[in-house]
Amino acid sequence: MPELAQVVVDVPTMQTNQPYTYQIPPTLEKQIQVGVRVIVPFGNGRRTVQGFVVGIDQETKYEGKLKPIQAIMDLQPVISSELMELSKWLADSTYSFWISCLYTMLPSLLKAKTARIIRIIDEVDEHVAFDIFHGKDELEMTDVQDNPKILSELLKLQKAGKIAIEYQVEDRAHAKTVTGIRPRLNFEQLEDERISLHSNAHAQNRLISYLQSLNGQTVKFKEAQRITGLKPATFNQGQKKGWLEKVPIEVYRQPLDMQGTPDDQHLAAPLTLNADQEAAVNKINHAIDDHASQVFLLQGVTGSGKTEVYLQSIANALKQGKTALMLVPEISLTPQIVNRVRRRFGSKVAVLHSSLSNGERYDEWRRIERGEAQVVVGARSAIFAPLKNIGLIVLDEEHESSYKQDESPRYHAREVAKWRGKYNHAPVVLGSATPSLESRARAVKNVYHLLRLPHRVNQQILPPINIVDMRDEVKKHGESNFSQTLLGELADRLQKGEQSILMLNRRGFSSFMMCRDCGAVLKCPNCDISLTLHMDTRTMKCHYCGHEEPIPHECPNCHSRQIRYYGTGTEKVEQELHQLLPGARIIRMDVDTTRRKGMHAKLLRQFGHHQADILLGTQMIAKGLDFPNVTLVGVLNADTGLGLPDFRASERTFDLLSQVSGRAGRANKQGKVIIQTYNPDHYAIQDAKEHNYEKFFKQEMMLRRQAGYPPYYYTVRLMASHPEEAKAAGAMAKIYEQLKNGLSSSTIILGPTPRAIARMKRRYYYQIVIKYKKDPHLHQLLFDILQNTQSRGFKDVQVSIDPDPQYFM
Ligand code: ADP
Ligand code: ZN
Ligand code: ZN
Repeated sequence: MPELAQVVVDVPTMQTNQPYTYQIPPTLEKQIQVGVRVIVPFGNGRRTVQGFVVGIDQETKYEGKLKPIQAIMDLQPVISSELMELSKWLADSTYSFWISCLYTMLPSLLKAKTARIIRIIDEVDEHVAFDIFHGKDELEMTDVQDNPKILSELLKLQKAGKIAIEYQVEDRAHAKTVTGIRPRLNFEQLEDERISLHSNAHAQNRLISYLQSLNGQTVKFKEAQRITGLKPATFNQGQKKGWLEKVPIEVYRQPLDMQGTPDDQHLAAPLTLNADQEAAVNKINHAIDDHASQVFLLQGVTGSGKTEVYLQSIANALKQGKTALMLVPEISLTPQIVNRVRRRFGSKVAVLHSSLSNGERYDEWRRIERGEAQVVVGARSAIFAPLKNIGLIVLDEEHESSYKQDESPRYHAREVAKWRGKYNHAPVVLGSATPSLESRARAVKNVYHLLRLPHRVNQQILPPINIVDMRDEVKKHGESNFSQTLLGELADRLQKGEQSILMLNRRGFSSFMMCRDCGAVLKCPNCDISLTLHMDTRTMKCHYCGHEEPIPHECPNCHSRQIRYYGTGTEKVEQELHQLLPGARIIRMDVDTTRRKGMHAKLLRQFGHHQADILLGTQMIAKGLDFPNVTLVGVLNADTGLGLPDFRASERTFDLLSQVSGRAGRANKQGKVIIQTYNPDHYAIQDAKEHNYEKFFKQEMMLRRQAGYPPYYYTVRLMASHPEEAKAAGAMAKIYEQLKNGLSSSTIILGPTPRAIARMKRRYYYQIVIKYKKDPHLHQLLFDILQNTQSRGFKDVQVSIDPDPQYFM
């Protein structure tokens, strides 16, 4: 019986979740496994496309003539059986196409058309060396992927560990190399050289013996010097005499912020846990030992030692011979947290985050895949790390909205974590000082097991929070970004040599430009949003699409020269601070100052070494930072988030204020927090002031129940966009009809309405929000809609389906 392969193909204009059946040519029979990528013919023409083998069958229902797989791209599966299962569930639960889920799980080097190099890593026999590799030690997969005979030999060699396949950036200059040396002569030839040596040429004598011992292998130059104790000059003489040659060796790139981590002999010892930590660790360890896929919600105030709980639980998973995955939000994936994990687990740790280059990311992925790294720390997409035998998954700051991907597949890392926990029979720990309402509600219902760390380590009290009413300030002292109180405290810290953190949730200099004569506001030509003035680049920028234009000298509408800038941003505040506190050294940290690779880490390092008195930044400074000398935290505008048309606005404000407050007084010095606001009586601000999560939770739950929002209802958002407004609206109207006819009467459909920012990147957006408790038809209906969007009627209309959306703007 001939074998058949189920292949999910990559055809952007004709996406479907249905795999296609292909013949496996007899010559490829042994090589085709589930999880490898293949090249298959598609459609009528000669076109070929890439696809993933997702199943192997004996028979098919398809009646027509089957086409054969043309070539195989990988020698071994790039998608493990666990991730294959996961991809199916992901496509189903996020209303996405299977192919995009498969790609999402791979490092980008494996998505693009990457060079695939097959390299000899161990001794092979002459036939292989000459007939297949033509005397070289590597060859390109493209040259052999159509040749089943060679492929089957390669497969055997790979299984025997004699060759390895590597995926490289097209531009090989990107691959990081060090100098290696390799003998150019064989044993006997080297022996002949030795005879002609001067009797006192001891060093060269030793070099010859060393080269003979290499048996033709390449070694790192540094390594060779270390082992032999010979000087580089000796090797250089050997090179001149033709005994050896220098060759580049590719090495794993070590991400910048991980250099200088300790070797495995000098790891940090675990701390002695306090009673609360110990209780939490015990519960988690039991679950690890019992292979129980229990979900824990670890709720602990900032500085209560949650991270130590994670680290000791991870240690237990490792002790059981298992692996562990720890996710942190991108924004708090600072060198501080990474280093804490590296100091504890050394070379067992792999780090995955967005500021790694594609090459670095791939190197880390490969270390995980080969089982060389057993602990993975990373941001959202690290949840797809190819770890095997997972014993524990940790999600720190579980309430963070960045755990949800805002493009297809719109998955939430928390849900994927739970899926992998189940699959691996491993517990999942969700940690936060301010859990999302959804998670906390689940803990109340005992779906999650609640663990608490109610006190800060060392019994430090949480810093007192002062609320400054900016309405009074403006009346008394005129417009300023700084209240008298905050200025006074800042000056006091300067004098004492202590440090301060200031948060302002807007970057740039001024948030918009308005003409005083005609009222015109300078807007982005592509989006429905005003342009922000940036002084460092001397341009007006759009924060949505990146559009940039020169600062106008006159109003583009009435040509008046009476232009004024309103609103404030980090740049302007920095300038103001220089005037108000002339001696203060300030580090500004926002998207603009951290765009260059490594800058984020560098600025934090400078602040940590007290090379600045004030760290001024956007919300990227609110999380995860632990600087013992910081005793003052100021929030300049607590209100920016409150007015947004989003039911989570209060929750986000409460979270942010609680997080940023936690940056003060972390060591033995008492800290203080000052929050400036125009809404001093708002419950989110009042509850944050009292550090009272419980009170906030109750109040917010009540409001959610009244308004019918999560966690009382589930939500799905559908959005359609098109460069012409009528087309976007029309598409949404069609979808609305479909929904109205198909959904149960208890389900609520809001819209269609234009989105809050109706135009972005030259496209108009219309949306529908569905709220439901239980609707048996919804799932299938949404899939029908998804499939429909691939039809002609939806030409150029982009439709997205977002389950459990994090933003409604
Ligand atoms: P969280 O993650 O809850 O904000 P951390 O884990 O960062 O808290 O802990 C805050 C500080 O307390 C850190 O400097 C950490 O090293 C220290 N710490 C945590 N647990 C202990 C402990 N059991 N004994 C001593 N110090 C601890
Ligand atoms: Zn004007
Ligand atoms: Zn724009």
